[in-house]
Amino acid sequence: MTISFDTTQILIGGRWRAAGNGETIDVINPSTGEEVCKIGRGSAQDIDDAVAAAEAALNGEWGKMSATERGRVLSNISVKIKENEDELAALESLDVGKPLKQARTDATAMARYLEFYGGSADKVMGHTIPYADGYTVYTLREPHGVTAHIVPWNYPMQIAGRCIGGALAMGNTCVLKPSEDACLSLLLFARIAEEAGLPKGVLNVVPGYGAEAGAALTAHTGVQHISFTGSVGVGKMVQKAAGENIVPVTLELGGKSPQIVFDDADIEAALPFLMGGGIHNAGQTCSAGTRIVAQRGIYEKLIAAMTERYEALEVGPASDDLDVGPLVSEKQKNTVNDYIKYGVDDGLTVAAEGYLTANCPEKGSYVKPTLFRDVPYQHKLAQEEIFGPVQVVIPFDTEDEAIKIANGTEYGLVTGVWTKDGGRQMRMAKAVKAGQIFINNFGAGGGVELPFGGIGKSGFGREKGFEALYGFSVLKTVATNHG
Ligand code: NDP
Repeated sequence: MTISFDTTQILIGGRWRAAGNGETIDVINPSTGEEVCKIGRGSAQDIDDAVAAAEAALNGEWGKMSATERGRVLSNISVKIKENEDELAALESLDVGKPLKQARTDATAMARYLEFYGGSADKVMGHTIPYADGYTVYTLREPHGVTAHIVPWNYPMQIAGRCIGGALAMGNTCVLKPSEDACLSLLLFARIAEEAGLPKGVLNVVPGYGAEAGAALTAHTGVQHISFTGSVGVGKMVQKAAGENIVPVTLELGGKSPQIVFDDADIEAALPFLMGGGIHNAGQTCSAGTRIVAQRGIYEKLIAAMTERYEALEVGPASDDLDVGPLVSEKQKNTVNDYIKYGVDDGLTVAAEGYLTANCPEKGSYVKPTLFRDVPYQHKLAQEEIFGPVQVVIPFDTEDEAIKIANGTEYGLVTGVWTKDGGRQMRMAKAVKAGQIFINNFGAGGGVELPFGGIGKSGFGREKGFEALYGFSVLKTVATNHG
């Protein structure tokens, strides 16, 4: 495809320009292994400029807008995202290897985030609090000020949509540092937001390496809130940086989400969701339901049904729009293949594999989807976030055992429970440790309206839904003694 804008430009204070040091980073198409364009390599100096621009914007037109007016701008952005869905999806496919249909779903979800937060902007209210005689006490919700947004490569549009949308709804300004592996759709998003009437300096975008631009942003003393989605290792660094400056931080750090299937489950209804955990976005999803925890009575039937589907899975270039595209990079491909090799060498049984079509260029980052069966729940492959098209099936006998296995990792992001027994549905929802629990469905973190976030090493804080707006604002209590 021909890209319609200069991808090397970064956005600061409403001006598109080269990164200050003039350096760039190559963008590789993971479907082919070939370079498609370059992006700017933002530096600490660019971050300084972006934070200054975001500070200035707080005191300009944006700071004076009513919540309703802010909401209208977000709604306009949503409409324009929809108008540009084709280009956004094509860019995402090119940049991260997502099959076109899946990339389009992400663009639609980003539009929906802006629509939801546009409608929410003027509906966040404070309270009046009964207090001593002669006093009137009320609370106000105010923006933090300049907010930092560190976004990973797996769902750039959805993740930026949820954190930028929520932050803007509350009147904050934003500095966005996308992953160096996934910038293109977000550079176009920023252009769309400008066209839709977002005042200059309210959204600044500085692509670059995490250790350079990302670290400079999270350590910046001008930032008043940090929203981070990514790995546990970098999450720890971000929390330390936030601690130095005593600013709030939201950490969304991934998981090893179980889908628990009881003997009485409707397997036909469950199968698309069970498969989705491994194949959607090639398994590169923080909330992917990659641990299938299945009761003995349906165990073999479930394995047989999943095997049939795995063996039909086609892997190919993003533009072929098959079940599974390439992984985001050669590095990620190697990481995932190392996990598969470790499992096989350690004696795990491969129940089924998908296949690579003849169209896969040799230099693309393709991995065969792989289903392991009879995996002990403490095994490395059942404990660690693989972030690729790999699923494990773990058998269990009793409800207590299912709970022990489900809660038996250091993560707690999402849990799926498949059972028709109403009492068990209630017991399981209480017993499992996860930020979201889906009964007889699996949202894969889904639902713009649904608060989302982790327990344990999956992080803390909630994004998505109305709940996120409390995190993106500060509560102020006003007590007036009027006698
Ligand atoms: P990282 O945590 O390294 O990257 C996430 C984001 O943080 C990117 O924008 C990255 O920038 C940025 N970043 C990296 N280093 C720093 C730093 N020192 N300070 C501030 N920001 C920084 O994840 P990876 O991309 O390396 O992926 C590794 C693993 O993380 C995956 O295999 C997966 O397990 C997990 N992951 C989980 C995600 C989730 O949704 N929970 C999303 C992505 C990854 P840049 O990419 O430019 O370096």
